[in-house]
Amino acid sequence: MKPFAYDAAPARVVFGPGKRAEAAAELDRLGVTKAIVVATAPQAEMAAECAQSLGDRAADVYPGAAMHTPTDVTASAMQAVEAAGADGIVAIGGGSAVGLSKAIALRTDLPQLCLPTTYAGSEMTEILGQTENGLKTTLRDPKVRPETVIYDPELTVSLPDFITGPSGMNAIAHAVEALYAPDGNPIIALMAEESIRALGAALPRAMADGADMEARGEALYGAWLAGACLGAASMGLHHKICHTLGGTFDLPHADVHALMIAYSAAYNAKAAPDAMARVARALDAADGPGGLFDLFHKVGRKTSLAALGMSEAGLERCADIATQNPYANPEPITRDGIRTMLQAAFEGRRPS
Ligand code: NAD
Repeated sequence: MKPFAYDAAPARVVFGPGKRAEAAAELDRLGVTKAIVVATAPQAEMAAECAQSLGDRAADVYPGAAMHTPTDVTASAMQAVEAAGADGIVAIGGGSAVGLSKAIALRTDLPQLCLPTTYAGSEMTEILGQTENGLKTTLRDPKVRPETVIYDPELTVSLPDFITGPSGMNAIAHAVEALYAPDGNPIIALMAEESIRALGAALPRAMADGADMEARGEALYGAWLAGACLGAASMGLHHKICHTLGGTFDLPHADVHALMIAYSAAYNAKAAPDAMARVARALDAADGPGGLFDLFHKVGRKTSLAALGMSEAGLERCADIATQNPYANPEPITRDGIRTMLQAAFEGRRPS
């Protein structure tokens, strides 16, 4: 066995349908008496219900969270935190709500209780991405890791298909890259394989019937494990390519991850045979990249970079940017290799 280091990340996880009803008790455990509830605008009603269930432990609701945690939104939320005299944060929603909660925690060190409603996984990491003047920067700080997370699959029933599929595949991408990360370890590999298995089995069922609680539960369980993988291991080629496609070319974050993971896995297949064997086993497929491609075709709608709005001319620039700064990846990064991979994804071809 190869030597490794493993950091057990401190977090309390409460999992199960209806468990959001225990939010008040969880705040009591944290010693929070006046929480601010944060959410994105479309989840305002969910946030209001959550605040109601907290009784006088809810000091205010701030339903203004936005994608990529803009610092001006955080500044306005901070005014609400101060006005309410909040001594804790409750985030209900996807990565945007959790991002705002983490940004407030960074500035105040207040304890956080998160109730995730997508498969983004941010609630399991000490990573925070913030956007100022259109520029996104990412930091790591133990202060931003939420203390308690309640995973209630009932909160995910309202997720539409076009979010369920890409959001779930995005989570799978965290787990796949953790399997070949240089700082991976046997515990994270167990979590990653189980995450891919759970999401692979559950996503097609959750999409066939959004109210299938077994499938919703298994998908959220897989997303939790994927978030833990993202927090524990360095991400490689796949995340670099997706950040380039999302950041420079403005393609939708989760859809890009969902499409690209089969191609990134194929790029790394020869250099990371053990990781790919685990992916194949998790998906009950003949090979890892093929299994990811087939799963994506069951749960994704836009199955090529062209369909996502990428121009063929942009592939050259994307290949340049994605090969600019060196980063750890099992297969050496070459411009030709990346350009060929991008072409296959542009056309939506089965990766080889
Ligand atoms: P999001 O929170 O914006 O949610 C995506 C969409 O789903 C939104 O339109 C939202 O209104 C909707 N939605 C959420 N819950 C719903 C529900 N239950 N029913 C119906 N619709 C619902 O985004 P996301 O995809 O969850 O997360 C992406 C964000 O999280 C990005 O900003 C990303 O950078 C960040 N992120 C951060 C980390 C980290 O570790 N720091 C990890 C993953 C993602």
